[in-house]
Amino acid sequence: MNTRTTKDWQAADASHHLHPFTDFKSLAGKGSRIITRADNIYLWDSEGHKLLDAMSGLWCVNVGYGRRELIDAATKQLETLPFYNSFFQTTTPPAIELAELLAQVTPPQFKHVFFSGSGSEGNDTIVRMVRRYWDLKGQPERSVIISRHNAYHGSTMAGASLGGMSGMHEQGGLPIPGIVHIEQPFWYESDRRLSRDEFGLKAARALEQKILEIGADKVAAFIGEPVQGAGGVIVPPATYWPEIQRICDRHGILLVSDEVICGFGRTGQWFGCETFGYRPDLMTFAKGVTSGYIPLGGVMVGERVAKVLIEEGGEFAHGYTYSGHPVACAVGIANIKLIQREGLVERVRTEIGPYLAETFAALAEHPLVGEVQTCGMMGALQLVKDKASGEMFDGKLEVGMVCRAHCFGNGLIMRAVGDRMIVAPPLVMTKAQIDEMAVLIRKCLDLTQQELKQRGWW
Ligand code: PMP
Repeated sequence: MNTRTTKDWQAADASHHLHPFTDFKSLAGKGSRIITRADNIYLWDSEGHKLLDAMSGLWCVNVGYGRRELIDAATKQLETLPFYNSFFQTTTPPAIELAELLAQVTPPQFKHVFFSGSGSEGNDTIVRMVRRYWDLKGQPERSVIISRHNAYHGSTMAGASLGGMSGMHEQGGLPIPGIVHIEQPFWYESDRRLSRDEFGLKAARALEQKILEIGADKVAAFIGEPVQGAGGVIVPPATYWPEIQRICDRHGILLVSDEVICGFGRTGQWFGCETFGYRPDLMTFAKGVTSGYIPLGGVMVGERVAKVLIEEGGEFAHGYTYSGHPVACAVGIANIKLIQREGLVERVRTEIGPYLAETFAALAEHPLVGEVQTCGMMGALQLVKDKASGEMFDGKLEVGMVCRAHCFGNGLIMRAVGDRMIVAPPLVMTKAQIDEMAVLIRKCLDLTQQELKQRGWW
């Protein structure tokens, strides 16, 4: 039994631990919140406060906390073989079995997987692999990868470069050469003169313009998240992805779907590309593959690419110590089987996803909310200054952070991206729990509205 108090934890944390995406000085002044345990969709902190985790940890704990099957799978594998690698012509049974299972649950063009330890590493693999592919095809000058502003593809040099977060690019001279960005399909942020569908086509055609500007013979791939997650749960218009597919096909460019958030059921299909109707050549995955119980990521390699790598390849000089980690793979297998056994993907598509959509549609009536978007078990509420005109708040006011503080203070973990309040709850959430979440959201919106009035911002 650990007897340290919250203050002890906070002092030790501030002295020794640098957190991701954190202003270290400001956090040290405040002290971190210490999360000590979890069950189902709830977390508890070191002060005993209970929190409804509407973000599934960090978009990953899709089957909820405390699942015995996953704990047992990890324990058994730790006892049998806690580690061996897949270098030097060796591997382990869990890595093979997970590869087999992934080939079954992914779209039919995927028969091979390359494992990594995280989503960022998966996207580093994407950069190496698409360039290797074009080298082997005798077109090494095809090296440019096109991504989108406000995309999130991870935090390594390649991941952050593929991503379109300006704050990340400003630190450390990113993006690395050969990665360029086009506009994102964010209709609400546009002048809204076009219909959503027209805007979707326009945003997709920015890809074609960029390809023509660079020269198709120099472009290796396009990468996108089916729904931009960290960018604010931006659900693209239905016209967007089919047009992206058409453009990639027309110019012979590889299409990469970053399924790190959308994979494993979150959108109501196994993968987001199935929900939005496109056929990627490569897919990055992580998070939901193990429901976050243990780190694992990777790249699904479609036959178009796999054939060339395998038949014409020679050695692909790339890989990680933890590629195919046996404990992570054992948890991945147990997690996918659990998703299958409980029919969670179908549940998101036909039952709980539609219920979340209904619930969010009702929240759209709140005076602070300009629009809502949902897709499967993901949702966004756009906070606005003027509901009728859709006028946004001045970004400097950080209204989203005001709302997020009320959420934390009232037992709800909801994330703010600018003034977009977002959720990605566990796929196992019940209707009663969605109702419970909605009551908390409404309360926090009311409290935010009151505070904005007091401050004279609304
Ligand atoms: N791609 C996407 C779409 C993501 O959302 C994330 C993480 N939020 C990543 C890549 C990076 O994954 P990781 O943090 O596991 O490196």
